[in-house]
Amino acid sequence: MKNKTVYFITGSQDLYGEETLRQVAADGKVIADYLNRASGNPVTFVYKDVVKNSAQIEAVCKAANNDGACVGVIAWMHTFSPAKMWVHGLLALQKPLLHLHTQANEKLPYESIDMDFMNLNQAAHGDREFGFIGSRLRLRRKVAVGYYKDETTLAEVFAWARSAAAFAFSRTLKVARFGDNMRSVAVTEGDKIEAHVKLGWTVDYYGVGDLTAEIGKVTAKETDALYAEYKTLYAINTPDVDAVKEQAKYEIAIKRFLDAGGYKAFTTNFEDLHGLKQLPGLAVQRLMAQGYGFGGEGDWKTAALDAVFMYRSDGLKGATGFMEDYTYDLTAGKELVLGAHMLEVSPAFAATKPAIEVHPLGIGGKDAPARLVFDGVTGDGVAATIVDMGGRFRLIAAEIELVKQPQPMPKLPVARVMWKLKPDFKTGAAAWIYAGGAHHTVVTTQSGTADFIDFAKMCDIELVSINGKTDIRAFENKLLLGDAVWNIRAAR
Ligand code: MN
Repeated sequence: MKNKTVYFITGSQDLYGEETLRQVAADGKVIADYLNRASGNPVTFVYKDVVKNSAQIEAVCKAANNDGACVGVIAWMHTFSPAKMWVHGLLALQKPLLHLHTQANEKLPYESIDMDFMNLNQAAHGDREFGFIGSRLRLRRKVAVGYYKDETTLAEVFAWARSAAAFAFSRTLKVARFGDNMRSVAVTEGDKIEAHVKLGWTVDYYGVGDLTAEIGKVTAKETDALYAEYKTLYAINTPDVDAVKEQAKYEIAIKRFLDAGGYKAFTTNFEDLHGLKQLPGLAVQRLMAQGYGFGGEGDWKTAALDAVFMYRSDGLKGATGFMEDYTYDLTAGKELVLGAHMLEVSPAFAATKPAIEVHPLGIGGKDAPARLVFDGVTGDGVAATIVDMGGRFRLIAAEIELVKQPQPMPKLPVARVMWKLKPDFKTGAAAWIYAGGAHHTVVTTQSGTADFIDFAKMCDIELVSINGKTDIRAFENKLLLGDAVWNIRAAR
C-alpha cells in the first residue's frame, strides 16, 4: 500500500501576489511532508504545485486520473480559491476526494495577528467556498476537519487513504467462482455488471473440473512439504494424515489457479464438487489467511468484499474474514451470536493454537474434510454484508463486540467466533433483517463504520449503518427514504 500515492493539492488564486503564494506553497508542502512522516501513514502523499486557475486545476485532476499509482486526492484551500475555477477539474476527477479542512497554524497569534496573517490563513472561508461547489456538484467526498497535526485528524486522513487504496484494489479485483451459487438461495445472487460498474469486480465462472485438473498436477513431494509446514503451525488432532494431505493438495492447486489468473478472491459450492474427495476446508482457511477473499456456496459478493477489506487492513493488527451468523445464545440480556461456517473460518481469528481435525460434514455426500478448529479473538468489530436490492447494491455495516466464548464447546468441530450485537440484540438483529442483510458477512476488527462509509461513497453505493445509537423506528424510516433516494439516483 505504501507504493500507492495520494495527491496533496493546495488551492489558491493569482490575486494574492507572489510573496503570499510562495508562503501558500511552502505551507502546503509542510503539511504534505508531515503526513508522510507521521506514524500510521499507509500511503505516500505527493505534494502538487499550488493551483491558481481552472486550467491548472483541470490538469492536476486529469493527472491524478491517469496516474496508476494515485488512489486519491486531498484538497485544501489555504487561501480563498474561487470555486467556479474548480468545476471542470472536479467534474473530470475520477479518483476519491478528501477535502481536508485545516490550517497551517493551530493557535491564533493574538499578539501579532495583522491583515497579512488574515490574508494568508483563510481556510475558514476558503474551504467553505470549496465545500459549496462539492455539494453543488453532488460529489460523494470525505470532509476531514481539524489541525493537521492532531492525532484524530491524522487518523481520519490515514483511514480514508486506506479506503482509497482499497477502492483502487477493488476496481481491479477478479473473483473466480468454482461452480455456481447454491441452488435456490436468494441473497447470494446479484447483478455482476452492476458490481463491475460500481465496485470494479470481475466475477468469472469456472467448472470445478478446471480445478480438479490443477489438483491432479500437484506432486506428492509438494503435498508432503506443505503437510510438514502444517505440523509446525498447528496441532494435528487426527490420525487421518491422508485426509489432511488431500486439503494440502487443494491449497496448492487453488492458489496456483488463482495466481495464474490474477484472482484475489474465490468461491466454492458443496453442491458442485465433482472429482473432489472433500469439500475444501483447511485449504480455504489457509488461503483466507494469505489474503484471498472467500465466500461459501458461490457467494461472490462476500468473497470480493472479504478480499477488499483484507487488503484495506494491510499492516494493521486484528482480523478480517468470511463469517456466517450460525446460531445464537438467547439468554435474555446476554445474547450472543455464534459465528462460524461449515469449515471455512480464517485462522486470522484464532485466539488459541489452531488444531487440524477431520470430521464428517453431514452435507454434500463427500469424505470427511480436514479443517482448522480454534476459539476466536475478542474486541470491537464490524460485521458487513453487501446485498443486491434490485437496481443497486446496499452495503450494511453493523458494529459488534467480539467476546470470549462463555464456556468451552469441546464437541463443536469448527472454528468459531462469538459476538454481541449493538445497540442490543433485539434492535441489532431486527435492523439487520429489515435491511435485508445476508447470513454471510465479512467480520473485521481492522475497519470501522466510518471506513465502510468512506468505501461506499467511493463506490457510489448505498451504506446502511447499525450501531450503538440505532433506533429501530428511525432505522426503518431511513430504509424507506433510502429506497426513494436510490430509485431516483438509479434512474439517472
Ligand atoms: Mn454459508
